[in-house]
Amino acid sequence: MSKNTEITRDLFDQVMVPNYSPSPIIPVRGQGSRVWDQQDNEYIDFAGGIAVSCLGHCHPTMVKALTEQGQKLWHVSNILTNEPALTLASKLVDATFAEKVYFANSGGESNEAALKLARRWAHDNYNDEKTHIIAFKQGFHGRTFFTVTVGGQPAYSSGFGPKPGDIYHAEYNNIGSLQELISDKTCAVVIEPLQGEGGIIEPTDEFIKGVRQLCDQYNALLIFDEVQTGVGRLGYLYAYMDLGVTPDILTTAKGLGGGFPIGAMLTTAKIAKHLNVGSHGSTYGGNPLACAVATAVFDTINSDKVLNGVREKSQLFAQYLSQINQKYQVFSDIRGKGLLIGAELNTQYQGKARDLLVASMEAGLMILVAGANVVRFAPSLVISDDEIKAGMAIFEKAVENLVNQ
Ligand code: PLP
Repeated sequence: MSKNTEITRDLFDQVMVPNYSPSPIIPVRGQGSRVWDQQDNEYIDFAGGIAVSCLGHCHPTMVKALTEQGQKLWHVSNILTNEPALTLASKLVDATFAEKVYFANSGGESNEAALKLARRWAHDNYNDEKTHIIAFKQGFHGRTFFTVTVGGQPAYSSGFGPKPGDIYHAEYNNIGSLQELISDKTCAVVIEPLQGEGGIIEPTDEFIKGVRQLCDQYNALLIFDEVQTGVGRLGYLYAYMDLGVTPDILTTAKGLGGGFPIGAMLTTAKIAKHLNVGSHGSTYGGNPLACAVATAVFDTINSDKVLNGVREKSQLFAQYLSQINQKYQVFSDIRGKGLLIGAELNTQYQGKARDLLVASMEAGLMILVAGANVVRFAPSLVISDDEIKAGMAIFEKAVENLVNQ
């Protein structure tokens, strides 16, 4: 790179592997739920870096934790333990069903650990045939080869050679379909307690309780992938807390670090003991910087004020979206929970979710999609009501343009 190389979106195509296709703008700074690009254009952020920035950008408690820890100790490896990791693990244990924590750096890695643990648990407790993993169609669990194969979109795992075996896919919200696949050979059932990437699909009460019951019947571990739903996103610290179903293993990432990469796998002591010394690991997992930031995030989110706020703001989002829909009739469904909200386009506007995303971005609003037909919103959990109003005014313009095309 010469001294005068201009940092533009074109440079991406020159120097980056083409597995992403980022938007034309390059954000350079953020504050709360606002982001500014290189040209100083302002955006309201309803995307939160794909459900990550749960306290918005540069939240003072996160900046404080990062700078304080940044001046003390960044990294020691897992040959040593460290104070921030032990602090965060204790808080996670105190606040959930779990008794033990394993730290990773992402959602995919947390799930990789969960799946390996389930296989090892079955190997140690049962026999070498109890290897089957059942996941759900349209589910998403990460991009490592194991997790992407477990994910319910075969297109993402095809073309990379032989896939990890003994992985099966049932239909979400169809307990009969799980019943057909589950057997004594099943070591784990992996499920998102609300499908995120798959289109913002909530489980029915009957289904999620049925999944737990079948796991118990066949001695299979129930793994909740709470990478997207966790850390207050649905208005509860973890989604399982409002479902009346407790998993055996839970994975959490995204919001856990509020923008700093970290993931974790939580489980009981009885299950955890099967990942014994040397069986699994990560150089960076549980590093002091990540854990210090995540502790600040966790302490802020795990309060009645923030969690009640998520439920209130959720209603505000739903109100604005239904008002827009009454006016323009573009959505067949507005759904989701807490601040993970989907608006599904009706038959007239099939495949246009990305068009709405692009139009919103051009007008100064960052949103997400979940598939071709669902617009997804995953803003900061502490976004102000005024910012929701301002963002929705921009979104309404984008919808109006779509309708008038
Ligand atoms: N699991 C779920 C439910 C997710 O939504 C995602 C990411 O979108 C992942 C796992 C993968 O997480 P990461 O990209 O941090 O590996």
